[in-house]
Amino acid sequence: MTEPEERRRAEAVAELTEILLASIADDEASANEVLEYLRPGIDVIYVNLSRTEGNVTTSTQVSPYDPARDLAGCESKRKLIELAFEVAAKVDGEWGCCHTSEAIRAGQCEGAGLATAEPFLTALALPYATTA
Ligand SMILES: [Zn+2]
Repeated sequence: MTEPEERRRAEAVAELTEILLASIADDEASANEVLEYLRPGIDVIYVNLSRTEGNVTTSTQVSPYDPARDLAGCESKRKLIELAFEVAAKVDGEWGCCHTSEAIRAGQCEGAGLATAEPFLTALALPYATTA
């Protein structure tokens, strides 16, 4: 891989990290909005889906939405991002150019640290890539 390509990959990983963190913050804000809406003692919302075809309407109850679980998921994703860069820094220290997790996160590493962090971040971004 040429240096300009590696530079672009490093910058893309830094940008992806920022997009991921912003998306997680959006999810967290949505879950907090739902929590504020709930009355005391109610912590789960059930969603009903209705579908009308011609004159027939059918309803289906789907799985409950638990905003507290969503908030825990946001925290989990943030921790996974942090761990991805910590592991990347360990690999980079052993096999690469010895960048810290912060430097890799900032897009300064074009070696083993980048190659280690990138697939974790790409996997974490999958749910956000499929929604508008
Ligand atoms: Zn490096």
